[in-house]
Amino acid sequence: MIRDQGVLDSLQDTVRRFVRARLIPAEAQVETDNAIPPELVAEMRALGLFGLSIPEEFGGLGLTMEEEVTIALELGYTSPAFRSVIGTNNGIGSQGIIVDGTPAQKAYWLPRMAKGEVIGSFALTEPDVGSDAGSIRTGAIRDGDQYLINGTKRYITNAPVADVFTLMARTGGPGPGGVTAFLVPRNSPGLSLGPVDKKMGQRGTRTCDVILENCRVPAEAVIGGVEGQGFKTAMKVLNRGRLHIAAVCVGAAQRLCDESVAFARNRVQFGKPIAEHQLIQAMLADSATETFAGRCMVIEAARRFDDGKRIVQEAACAKLFCSEMVGRVADRAVQIHGGAGYMQDYAVEHFYRDVRLFRLYEGTSQIQQIIIARELTAN
Ligand SMILES: Cc1cc2nc3c(=O)[nH]c(=O)nc-3n(C[C@H](O)[C@H](O)[C@H](O)COP(=O)(O)OP(=O)(O)OC[C@H]3O[C@@H](n4cnc5c(N)ncnc54)[C@H](O)[C@@H]3O)c2cc1C
Repeated sequence: MIRDQGVLDSLQDTVRRFVRARLIPAEAQVETDNAIPPELVAEMRALGLFGLSIPEEFGGLGLTMEEEVTIALELGYTSPAFRSVIGTNNGIGSQGIIVDGTPAQKAYWLPRMAKGEVIGSFALTEPDVGSDAGSIRTGAIRDGDQYLINGTKRYITNAPVADVFTLMARTGGPGPGGVTAFLVPRNSPGLSLGPVDKKMGQRGTRTCDVILENCRVPAEAVIGGVEGQGFKTAMKVLNRGRLHIAAVCVGAAQRLCDESVAFARNRVQFGKPIAEHQLIQAMLADSATETFAGRCMVIEAARRFDDGKRIVQEAACAKLFCSEMVGRVADRAVQIHGGAGYMQDYAVEHFYRDVRLFRLYEGTSQIQQIIIARELTAN
């Protein structure tokens, strides 16, 4: 649902121009420094990008899902690391509060997140528990008006810069029903961070372990104030996040298509631009077709979400297709560039590494297949 086409067009145009004028020229520097220049983070903050999906009453832009994926498509056009910096505040770092938080939790955290003053992060994965998220081992024990949390969370995006974690811990028996979601401030006693992980790609965005050793949080840190609801909260957050990731994949695929076309027009072999060789044309056509298919899936699923429909299957389909699709498009883009595609002078080299992550996090491709099959066979 688009509330005001003119307002959305204007925001989309602003983001598109910002991506092309400011972010794309900084991609090479981000690859070298493994950091986003602070002035660009400040510009993203000024544009309101930290609060795209946070409701207007809490200072965000309160975009509908269709509006949000429209902007995510634009942001996907550059290094995914830029989107990742704002991604947790718009997605997994804030959505738990938005969907299930108490009025006090919303009033305290969301305005700060929307302004980018506070960075939110989402801590579910553990060293021994990834896809089987209902089996987490990090434990939280009630101690008077506090909880004592012990465990380790792994590969947590933006943890090195986070101010607050939406963190799942076990307060009850085994399985999903024993999981509770907490809001754990970075400065909580007993919380420390591991070394920054050495990743394959998405340089500029950082992950690390979050270590909880008798970490104390007040009882009010329980999201929604109710124990045992944490797994449901996590699944709602991830369900929504899947469409956002899918949109970013489509944006990246569009960039890879454009880079491929530009290169193929200029590179001459056998006396003519390679764009005139039919085997190159076939790769360009396949990539354009798959990118368009991904775009249609994302927009249609977002419209259904805005219509209030249950889109568990559609979100999983979109995440599965778009994350796998952008991998194929990246592979073709490198192929079209020939040896140049293997060199860091060309953007397709880092995109090839960057987009690999989309098939792994927020539910691997196999987990999306399991979700889709479960939805198909449930009744
Ligand atoms: C860069 C990065 C950032 C991340 N950011 C975050 C974050 O911010 N917060 C967070 O909580 N987590 C984060 N993660 C963790 C991510 O969500 C997990 O890595 C992912 O869910 C997979 O879990 P795993 O790595 O333990 O793999 P595993 O679950 O061990 O899976 C290994 C393989 O087995 C397959 N598999 C597992 N179960 C089944 C099954 N039933 N049937 C068939 N195949 C199966 C998987 O698909 C995969 O191929 C991040 C990971 C990375 C790499």
